[in-house]
Amino acid sequence: MCFNFESLPSRVVFRAGAIEELAAETARLGSRAFVISTPGQRRLAERCAALLGDKAIAVYDKALMHTPGDSVRAGLAEAQRLNADCCVAIGGGSTIGLAKAIAYERRFPIIAIPTTYSGSEVTPIWGHTENGIKHVTRHAHVQPRTVLYDPLLTLALPPAISGTSGVNAIAHCVEALYSETANPLVSLMAEEGIRALGRSLPKVVKAPSDIDARSDALYGAWLGGYVLGAVGMALHHKLAHVLGGAFNLPHAETHTVVLPHVVAYNSSAAPDAIRRIASALGVANAAQGLFDLNRAIGASVALKDFGMPEGGIDRAVELATANPYYNPAPIRADAIRQLLGDAWEGRPPRSFSGDAR
Ligand code: NAD
Repeated sequence: MCFNFESLPSRVVFRAGAIEELAAETARLGSRAFVISTPGQRRLAERCAALLGDKAIAVYDKALMHTPGDSVRAGLAEAQRLNADCCVAIGGGSTIGLAKAIAYERRFPIIAIPTTYSGSEVTPIWGHTENGIKHVTRHAHVQPRTVLYDPLLTLALPPAISGTSGVNAIAHCVEALYSETANPLVSLMAEEGIRALGRSLPKVVKAPSDIDARSDALYGAWLGGYVLGAVGMALHHKLAHVLGGAFNLPHAETHTVVLPHVVAYNSSAAPDAIRRIASALGVANAAQGLFDLNRAIGASVALKDFGMPEGGIDRAVELATANPYYNPAPIRADAIRQLLGDAWEGRPPRSFSGDAR
């Protein structure tokens, strides 16, 4: 055995009603809080501002999917103008991504209150998009200092978004298991994350107000986020970023469509990880099990359903193979084209042999 392990510093408060602790948690970090959300979650952001009283200096509801550069510049200018000394990000990965991009420039702490299963709240990573390319950056400073996990806030997350957001978290766990920098503790967390999400997501989609299932899914999301921040990812995350940046495809939905195909792609190159994924899902075949899970949660399984043009596959292959990066199976343009063709059309994942690549 041979590995490196570094623990990520963050304080986690996990309980139904955790949002009520916002004022006390914020007081540890700052006194001029910039509260960020998407437009759709402004009411939740206003609730945070009310909890903070005069320690909230603004509600800024302009977070957008894939964190476009212009939105970062506008948010930063506003935080600077108001002389914010910390920020509260309430929402999904888009909101937390904007908070990180601003916090990186301002060097102020983030208190994150996640309302999806993206996991961004426990990572030091953020993406932003310029000219159709999604850039991913890592810096310890943007790691949210405190995370309030409140399953009650996820009850309103629509079933369709809940399911795909949960598969996004599974994707973090899947790639952690075959990561170049995998280590035994993170692998345990990743396996447990897949187990928690695999059992809870169908229940969440069927009964969105089932608080036990919601708690279980949020627990899995925390594990997914943790492992994403702790070890390197591979082909699957590369493809999700390429497709999101180049075609503005919705993030979690894109992860959901692509994941079974990448698992099939890596099956023969990472047999131990694939066995652990199947075992956590309670299925014989990991790739098919993930495809079946997508069906069970009512998710679309075709990229074409999100408006990706078929002619865009070549551009995606070009972007996904332009620079070298780690993946258990070799990155080959012809095989990636076939994978994306299947994902575009919505075909079940095919088993690839290593030789075929
Ligand atoms: P999102 O943040 O864009 O949210 C999707 C939609 O759901 C938004 O309209 C939002 O307002 C709404 N919503 C969120 N929570 C809700 C709730 N509880 N009730 C009702 N509506 C709610 O989607 P996401 O999938 O969470 O995040 C995607 C973004 O996060 C992408 O840009 C992705 O790159 C990034 N991300 C980053 C990391 C990281 O570690 N840096 C990890 C995962 C995702």
